[in-house]
Amino acid sequence: MADVTLEALADEQRSFPPSPEFVANALVTDSSMHDLAAADPEAFWAAQARELLHWDRDFTTTCEWDLPFAKWFTDGQLNVSYNCLDRHVDAGHGDQIAFRWEGEPGDSRDITYAELLAEVSRTANALKELGVVKGDRVAIYMGMVLELPVAMLACARIGAAHSVVFGGFTADSLRDRINDAQAKVLVTGDGAWRRGGIVELKQIADEAMAETPSIEHCLVLRRTEQEVAMQTGRDVWWHDIVPTQSTECAPESMNAEDLLFILYTSGTTGHPKGIMHTTGGYLTQVAFTFKYVFDIHPDTDVFWCTADCGWVTGHSYIVYGPLANRATSVMYEGTPDYPAKDRFWSVVEKYGVTILYTAPTAIRTFRKWGSEFPAGHDLSSLRLLGSVGEPINPEAWIWYSEHIGTNRCPVVDTWWQTETGAIMISPLPGATVAKPGSATFPLPGIGADIVNDDGNAVGIPGGGYLTLTRPWPSMLRGIWGDPDRYRETYWSRFDGRYFAGDGAKRDADGYFWLLGRVDDIMLVAGHNISTTEVESALVSHPAVAEAAVVGKTDDTTGQAIAAFVILRAGHDPSDALVAELRDHVGHAIGPIAKPKSILFTEDLPKTRSGKIMRRLLRNVAEDEALGDVTTLADPSVVDGIKGRYLTTASDED
Ligand code: ATP
Ligand code: MG
Repeated sequence: MADVTLEALADEQRSFPPSPEFVANALVTDSSMHDLAAADPEAFWAAQARELLHWDRDFTTTCEWDLPFAKWFTDGQLNVSYNCLDRHVDAGHGDQIAFRWEGEPGDSRDITYAELLAEVSRTANALKELGVVKGDRVAIYMGMVLELPVAMLACARIGAAHSVVFGGFTADSLRDRINDAQAKVLVTGDGAWRRGGIVELKQIADEAMAETPSIEHCLVLRRTEQEVAMQTGRDVWWHDIVPTQSTECAPESMNAEDLLFILYTSGTTGHPKGIMHTTGGYLTQVAFTFKYVFDIHPDTDVFWCTADCGWVTGHSYIVYGPLANRATSVMYEGTPDYPAKDRFWSVVEKYGVTILYTAPTAIRTFRKWGSEFPAGHDLSSLRLLGSVGEPINPEAWIWYSEHIGTNRCPVVDTWWQTETGAIMISPLPGATVAKPGSATFPLPGIGADIVNDDGNAVGIPGGGYLTLTRPWPSMLRGIWGDPDRYRETYWSRFDGRYFAGDGAKRDADGYFWLLGRVDDIMLVAGHNISTTEVESALVSHPAVAEAAVVGKTDDTTGQAIAAFVILRAGHDPSDALVAELRDHVGHAIGPIAKPKSILFTEDLPKTRSGKIMRRLLRNVAEDEALGDVTTLADPSVVDGIKGRYLTTASDED
């Protein structure tokens, strides 16, 4: 690719300082923590590890860095489930609610820290009875029920690594992940509730297990209660084996570098990678970021992360971060539109949620549906909002702040990856002046920098490749079973630096703006143009709910911009609107960024975690065969767009 210098710098930038009311109670209100960490990052992380966690054995070395392999707190020992449960119960907080769980059909269950500890211990004993020992892998394929975090913590308690597979994946995807990890036990359910229907988890698991020789047992939770097949000798009901176990299960003291879990990436850019995370460093950074990015006050906050436990966001900010900090969290089983499009807001109101963490794809959808849905509920309990998963378009940020945060709540746009394990770039909400669309600055202790093709820092302002300049505690320890791919994927592009795959720029104030995947960056008439900036310009038009743009080969300009646009409720496609949108983008960024073609569509191809898969749109625009589609949520979407793209794409000027 040509030198990535992103010259299309957005013109308008609005600033949002935190309100004095928020600052008055915030944990961090100035730059002192950043300054402290900058002076000695390793000492900073060592202090955090000791302050935030209980170590069975203290560590004597902080970081061993043998590029590209890092070890943190190597000779320290600890147990993750002890840190998430026992120590809070021992300190007298056994009656505090850990999770306020809401089922999709409307049932609900609160579980206290003491109850969760008992349930985790029983489940850990059940796993042992099924033959799981320290060092084994356990696959988990469930809906968003409490037993999912219970199973994860039970693995952590006995030193087995979990591999959670999102409950929306197909039998083939589940099979491949089980085989890749060589899992011994699969934990699943009869089914999961989704939009009023049943996802047939056990049936899909059976199909997968037909070709997974490593699986010895399958532990099955009853949830949806339809008839399922149980294979004698292999399959065991949760209710037959877990409740009768002892609530005593001594936590295994693990080495800091023992494997905690394997998790596959979302597959936005291609075939998923089995990312490995270990014990001490992961828990340190997850506990740290949860506490400070979300400004957690464990006695009063009710935190709700709307992700699924099948993604890293669910691992770090539904399970490990909140529990390590003794937080009370909401966990919701279903979709945002069941039974109606106000379900999220009714959950916020019902439980008095104070901190909401969700994804741009959800925010754009809520904005498309209309502000009457949140407006019908009392959202006054909210005090902080977060976003993760994709760049958030400034317009969506503003809508979120206005209609959900009612102009009172700071918004933290958090950049990170499955590979980073925890948040890396984000505001600290009581200290950072936010700019909509910018993830602002690297967190204390994190080194990030933007470089050009030659690996040289681009300076301020400037755009290029986002790199991480030194190891961080929750960094991936590798790709399961493939050390070469690890080195090649993350450490080969720039000498001594981790390359994240994302493009970014810094504005004149030094703020970081994520600009999408570098593979998606478009080269139009010699100019590098980021997908994010053109999409954000489109979304800033009142008619547009969501947009995806890709570069399409063009005889005169090298690449031309092809746009796919979803309209907001009350707007209809027309030639006049095409012309208006092109002008709108031209105005916002410059004539060079005007899309050459615009296709109005009802849907965009997305991963099962809701991220736009531009590589498939590029295949459509170029009329090529589709790449890996195993992580695509709804394969019919691409076919629908493809049919219409070929007949309607305009090639005017
Ligand atoms: P794969 O690596 O398999 O292609 P993926 O990158 O989508 O899948 P994840 O680890 O779930 O898998 O996502 C991390 C990516 O999501 C980041 O590299 C970035 O592109 C995007 N992302 C996450 N949060 C943000 C954010 N706040 N702003 C911009 N981009 C973000
Ligand atoms: Mg990725």
